Parts: sequence; structure tokens; C-alpha cells
Amino acid sequence: MHIFLAALAHETNSFSPIPTTLRAFEEGILYRPRAGGAGRDEALGFPGYGYLLGVADEHGDRVTCGLCAWAQPGGPVARAVHESLRDELLGQLAAAGPVDAVFLVLHGAMIARGCDDCEGELLERVRALVGPGVAVGALLDLHATLTPRMLASGAVLVACKEYPHTDYLARTRELHAILARVADGRCRPDTLMRRVPMLGVFGTGEAPVRALVDEAQRLEAVPGILSISLIHGFPWSDTVHTGAAVLVVYMADAQANPEAAARAGEIAATLARGFFALRTHGGHAALPVEDAIDACMAAAGTGLVVLADSADNPGGGAACDSTFVLHALLERGVRDAALGMIWDPLAVQLAIDAGVGATLPLRIGGKVGLASGPPVDVLASVTAVRHDARQHGLAGEFTEALGDAVAIRADGIDIVLNTRRQQVFSPECFTELGIDLQTRRLVVVKSTRHFRARFDAIAAGTIICDAPGALNGDLARLPYARLARPIWPLDPIEEGEGGHA
Ligand SMILES: [Zn+2]
Repeated sequence: MHIFLAALAHETNSFSPIPTTLRAFEEGILYRPRAGGAGRDEALGFPGYGYLLGVADEHGDRVTCGLCAWAQPGGPVARAVHESLRDELLGQLAAAGPVDAVFLVLHGAMIARGCDDCEGELLERVRALVGPGVAVGALLDLHATLTPRMLASGAVLVACKEYPHTDYLARTRELHAILARVADGRCRPDTLMRRVPMLGVFGTGEAPVRALVDEAQRLEAVPGILSISLIHGFPWSDTVHTGAAVLVVYMADAQANPEAAARAGEIAATLARGFFALRTHGGHAALPVEDAIDACMAAAGTGLVVLADSADNPGGGAACDSTFVLHALLERGVRDAALGMIWDPLAVQLAIDAGVGATLPLRIGGKVGLASGPPVDVLASVTAVRHDARQHGLAGEFTEALGDAVAIRADGIDIVLNTRRQQVFSPECFTELGIDLQTRRLVVVKSTRHFRARFDAIAAGTIICDAPGALNGDLARLPYARLARPIWPLDPIEEGEGGHA
């Protein structure tokens, strides 16, 4: 089949102090096939986009590549940027000629100035362009905000099932297979959703969330059911549709599959009840900074302990330059610790100018706003400099750009500073700068959960702390204005009330 492929993805944090501009996409991924090869490697490394090219190749499909655009999570996308990227994608689709399928890699929680449902709007316009007969599919992040407008487009929606998001290749195959069946007339899909009125962050690796994810996958074998996604939602998105949901794609051809719609409805209701029952597991077990450091100290001697500075994770839109944990470590005289990465282009430049081996007074972090805390002044020894530093991302490729990165040592703490806001996925953020984590008692990472895919194997323990920040886990304190209420945990919803459609 002839597939049009494009990606336009942003996880928008309504409370982030970081404006999302065209530069944010240029620093992230911005591949424009007609403008030459710039950004092509990054696009190929972007889960979904790169995977689809491989899967299509296996099936002998022809792919017309459109835009691949991704920016590090931050605040709402500037209106003109959103509109120009959207229109560029639609123009490429129009220029692609007749296609059998449209495969879009989206996030699902993109908000722009003037549009709080960017995916719904895009899918609606794509449908208007290709007409009702063409297979349209969108690959989503499970931290999506599912909206009626997205469903009304008739697009087949498939989200990743795992958090950490380690299953994009499997989901790409899943969506491709459904689109292939639609394209050759073997099935006519429809999608239904059931809203689960709760906000939370749910790792899928452990019980009891694991069991629900497994159950949802088992139910995909029910006749007439094509795909089931548990949408966790993105709690830092302030829209009327924010929250969790269950999404079921089923065969809507009533003659061939007379029971499918009813079964899909039952499955959605059952899973929505089961998901809502897990609501108390969605509040992450984060400790205040001092308590978290106490817990790390108590674990001394057992091996490397990972302390996740979850609230300042740029992967959810936080500034990535907060200093609360660093302040506390210095104040308490904790040594043999490593901490990364603090986004501070100015401090990086000063350290590079001073050079490896130099010692200089350096003011670090605390620049973006109040939630970043005050800057920290240290006497820093520059121990390593790397231009265009990289780490392995979740997809396994060594493509996550960190910009220029430096390692400095101050009072027994190795600190990595860099010029691109990027969460820590991999120990390479440290080891590529000569920091041997196995000789440290503690490593602080600015990440919420994705780090676990690569740190669990080397860590004796993991502790999450909740400092101030745009990704602070105390949801009851966030200044929401647009959420549909009631919603857990802001409102006291009783058992049995969950899962309203
Ligand atoms: Zn996500």
C-alpha cells in the first residue's frame, strides 16, 4: 500500500515556564523531507516514525515521508508555530497524491495557544483531506489527552501500553496491521472511549498496574476487537478532557461482526472500572527532599542508590535547572554523589572556556523561575567537556542529543551540566563524561520513570523525591482552571463512580 507518514508530537505541560517555539522543535527533531537531509537521522531514531519505515519495508509498502517534528515537553506551543507545522503536514499529504493509509505519530497531549486539542484538529483536517474511505491511524503516547474530536475523525488510535514506553515497535506493527486490513477492505473499524475520571502516573512494570495491562492485552484476542489502549492521561495538562481513559478499537461491520460493538462497550466498561480501582497507585510515592536524602543515606553500603528528582523532569515540561536537591546535598556534606543534568548553557560555556583541569567559581542552575530555586555557587573543577554529547534513548538508539555537556566536581559531588533540556534516560549521561557511577553511593537524575529502563540493572535501590517544580506530584496544589470535575484525587469520588463515559 501507499502510506503517508508524518509525526507532530508535543507533550504540553500547562504549568511549564518554558515557551515552546520553533527553536524547541529545531533543537528536538525537525525533519522536512523536501528541504534536504537535515534532521533525517533524528527522525529515523524517533520511535514510530523510524519504526514505520522499517515495518513498511518488510511489507513492500511505498511510503511518502512527511514532516517529523518533536519538541521537548514544555508550555503551550506558540500559535504560529503550531499552525505552520500543521499546515506544512497537510500540504505534504495533499501533495502525496492518492494514498491507501495515513500513519501519524502524535503524542496526544499537545496544546497550542488558541487550540487545546491539536491532535483532534489535525485528525479532523486529515480526514477532510483524504475523505472517508482512506485508512487513517495515529500512534499515541499513553500520557495523551483523549478527546471526542480525535475519535470523531474516524482515525484508528493506538497508544503505547508500557511506561517506560518500551513498546513502540510492537505498537507500530499493531497499527500498521490494522491500517493494512482497513486499506484492503477487510475491516471497517470504529473506536470507543470510556473516560476514567482520575489523574495519576502509573508505572506498568509492577503489580497491580501490570495485571491490568496484561488483562487489556488478553482482551484484544476477543473476536471483533482490534486494539485496546489504557490511556493514563497527562496530569499536568489543564484541559476539559484531561484524565485517564480506556480506548477500544473494534470491527464496526455489523454484518460480519454483529457482537463486536457490544463486546467493545463491555470491555471498555470493565477495564475502566479496573483502572479506576487503581487510582490510589497513581500518586507517586515521592518523599520530601530531606527525607529522600535520609533514605539514601540509610541505604549506604548496599550499592548505588538512584534518587529521582521527578518534579524537575524536562521530559514532562519542567525547567531542568532546579537546585533543591543539590542545595540539600551540599548543605549536608554528602560526598561520592553524582547529579545530572542541570540545564545551564551559560555555566556550560564558562566551564568550556575555563577548560578541563581548571578550577573556577561557578553559579549553577536556579535561573528559570521560582520553581527552580536559587542558583548554587560552587568552586568547580572541570573534569570533562563533551561537544554534542548523546545518550541512548528508550528506543535503544544512541540518538538523544544532550548538546554540549560538562562534568564539574564540587565538594565531592560530580555534576553534569548541559545545553539542551533533556531528561536522564541512561547512565551514559555520566559515564560518557568519565563519571564511574559504581564508585558513587548516590546518583540524582532529573527524570520521573523512564530512567528505570536502564538504571534498574545497576542500582541497589531507587528513591523518588518531590521538590518544587512544574512536574510536582502534589496535584491538589496545582492551579487547575479547566479540568472536568469531579476528578480523583482532587475530588472525593467513591468506589463505583469511576468509568463514566
Ligand atoms: Zn509518555
